[in-house]
Amino acid sequence: MTEATDFQRAYDDLLGQGLALDLTRGKPAPEQLDLAEEMLSLPGAGDHLSAAGVDVRNYGGDQGLPELREIFAELLNVPVAQLLALDNSSLSLMHDVLVYSLLHGRNGAEPWAGRSVKFLCPVPGYDRHFALCESMGIEMVPVALGERGPDVEQIAALVAEDPSIVGIWTVPTYANPTGAVYDEETVRALVSMPTAAPDFTIMWDNAYALHHLTDEEPAPIDVHGLAAAAGNPDRVISFASTSKITFAGAGVAFLGGSVETIAWFRNYAGFRSIGPNKVNQLRHVRFFGDAEGVRAHMRRHREIIAPKFDLALRILQERLGDAEAVRWSHPAGGYFITLEVADGTATRVVQLAKEAGIALTPAGASHPYRNDPDDRVIRLAPTMPSLAQLEAAIEGVAICVRLAAAEVPSQ
Ligand code: PLP
Repeated sequence: MTEATDFQRAYDDLLGQGLALDLTRGKPAPEQLDLAEEMLSLPGAGDHLSAAGVDVRNYGGDQGLPELREIFAELLNVPVAQLLALDNSSLSLMHDVLVYSLLHGRNGAEPWAGRSVKFLCPVPGYDRHFALCESMGIEMVPVALGERGPDVEQIAALVAEDPSIVGIWTVPTYANPTGAVYDEETVRALVSMPTAAPDFTIMWDNAYALHHLTDEEPAPIDVHGLAAAAGNPDRVISFASTSKITFAGAGVAFLGGSVETIAWFRNYAGFRSIGPNKVNQLRHVRFFGDAEGVRAHMRRHREIIAPKFDLALRILQERLGDAEAVRWSHPAGGYFITLEVADGTATRVVQLAKEAGIALTPAGASHPYRNDPDDRVIRLAPTMPSLAQLEAAIEGVAICVRLAAAEVPSQ
């Protein structure tokens, strides 16, 4: 009996299980959401004054509650004067930064609209970043992402020459989807390299800055300080949120930048809104108390999700440890595992899994224009399913990886 027949048989068994499992998106599990259940009754009737005596039920306060900004300034390593606390989605703040740059321009440069502009996209990367660019007609140029950040030599050569390259996406801590953590050398290079575009913008999406899976809890790099020291204070705009700390549907998002960038953003944001949801911000202040309260809360998240990562990694090792050309990331934080399968088979793996009732993020999603030239990268999101569901799903994925590789005619 050939290997291929073995794998086909295992796959036929998988089909017979009638699974309905979902490893597509990095959502918190219900037990994680339960950790913040008490927030639903905060701040509570009668508790509606901020520390400065402001009535949070009313309009205003476009920078967000100072006491919440202070807590997250410490956690994110951004000076409080350079950090805004806003509504529930950091992705929407990234959207707004792109829109304001397209319409009005940044750092005194021409608006991006009406001319050809490009963003560098470290790959594999976050599909929603790429979708934002695509929706706004910003051309995307893939650059290689390693374990300590993107290839800075490749980037330096590109940005020095081409004034139409106006930005780069980065997820510097536990990157989506590889788990890469940018080291300080990489960050220094990014904030200091000469760029042909005067408004070259590093979109510093620190979505997972506090989402450690081990007891090592490194503080975020002081990216704004490094940029200022390099003479490029306006180059970096940072983002974070409590979407995966409290409630993904009712968190608080943060935007950091130089004092000038913050003024630039507030100016245009002021046309869009008369102030953020300060009741929700006060609720977060009451729930956490201080930065240590957030750290303790994140450890409770870790207790729930670290065993899921351990389980997924153990099964991958057992089932695919000896599979040719198959490897995967071993993230120390964040929400994803990147699985690299045999070249040319990722699409087939995702299709086989789908037919067996296991939903995976489409192959190619981690690349601009959904084009993974090697058809190799698959993103696994282990947080949402229960341990039992996750076990069934990863076992199933492993069978699909084997079968897809066995289907490829040998050269
Ligand atoms: N940035 C990254 C890298 C993400 O992975 C996600 C969600 O998965 C987001 C941003 C979304 O953030 P928010 O919920 O604050 O809009």
